[in-house]
Amino acid sequence: DFEKQVMAAVEFIRRHDRFLVVSHLNPDGDAIGSTLAVGLMLEYLNKTYKMVNEDPLPSKFNLLRGSDRVLFASELSEDEPYDAVISLDCADFRRMGELHKRVKPETPLLNIDHHATNEGFGTCVWIEAEAAATAEMLYALVNGLGIPWTEDLAKCIYTGLLTDTGGFRYANTGPQVLRIASEMLDYGVRASELANVLLEQMTYPQLVLLQKSLARLSFAYERRVAWVSVTARDMAEAQAANEDIEGLVNYPRNIEGVEVGLLFKETGEDTFKVSLRSNGKVDVARIAKSFGGGGHTLAAGCTLTGTLDQVTSQLVKEVGLALE
Ligand code: 5GP
Ligand code: MN
Ligand code: MN
Repeated sequence: DFEKQVMAAVEFIRRHDRFLVVSHLNPDGDAIGSTLAVGLMLEYLNKTYKMVNEDPLPSKFNLLRGSDRVLFASELSEDEPYDAVISLDCADFRRMGELHKRVKPETPLLNIDHHATNEGFGTCVWIEAEAAATAEMLYALVNGLGIPWTEDLAKCIYTGLLTDTGGFRYANTGPQVLRIASEMLDYGVRASELANVLLEQMTYPQLVLLQKSLARLSFAYERRVAWVSVTARDMAEAQAANEDIEGLVNYPRNIEGVEVGLLFKETGEDTFKVSLRSNGKVDVARIAKSFGGGGHTLAAGCTLTGTLDQVTSQLVKEVGLALE
């Protein structure tokens, strides 16, 4: 049960001394908040640790303490001394990116995640599919380790909750999420500041990208499915970074009558990363999984190869079948 899992994670951390803290590529607020929160916990416990991510953190996360200390895998030396890995918000081992090749298979690994599709990799596995965010699980870990709450730590946990619930609006916003969020405010978190920077604010490239992708808004199945796409050319013309795509898929999903919203993003030659969002009727994790991806019932992703037209018709067809 939950308490036992927390204690197993506590024991794992107490038992080891030098940690690698990792999360998924293209990190979101939960991945970043969780990584930095675990960093702060290890700091308090006087452990040696390095935080690593495949991709740079979007600059808006500069407001979290320690955000300037997250390294790329290439910054780790070949014989980097560590005796344990903590994986956060990673549904499968490869979601770490190239980094997964640097993690020696014999290294003890603590896997903390809230994705139902988690493969259960690692030596100490703690999966809570009911948790709204990995950060929600870390709230229990902080208390389990007996670590005193600080504003910095509270900000990290709040960030994970805020971003994975879409600003406390998605179906995963339960009473426990709001209780924890409320407690974080007691520790000094300023809710409006975080909401402004992390949810409201847009970069200029983000808006240009929105303009370009909405120009290609398409529909199928009596407008129950809607999608937009972002090509490599759009990215170059908008001078956009990966983080500027964040939230784009919500536009097709938010249209009245739409059951599933999709975003196709060109990531390489004839390669497209697909984001799937459901308004409730369709389990998009199942569809994503059938294409080798995964995620949650209402938010999932996968990667397909082919031209944009091929990939679109292939995926939209599967969504159509799920609508029946
Ligand atoms: P997004 O569309 O925002 O990239 O991802 C939505 C959800 O699906 C996230 O929870 C993410 O972890 C998951 N997801 C996205 N792409 C993949 C993928 O290729 N494999 C797996 N297993 N999960 C993914
Ligand atoms: Mn995540
Ligand atoms: Mn998450």
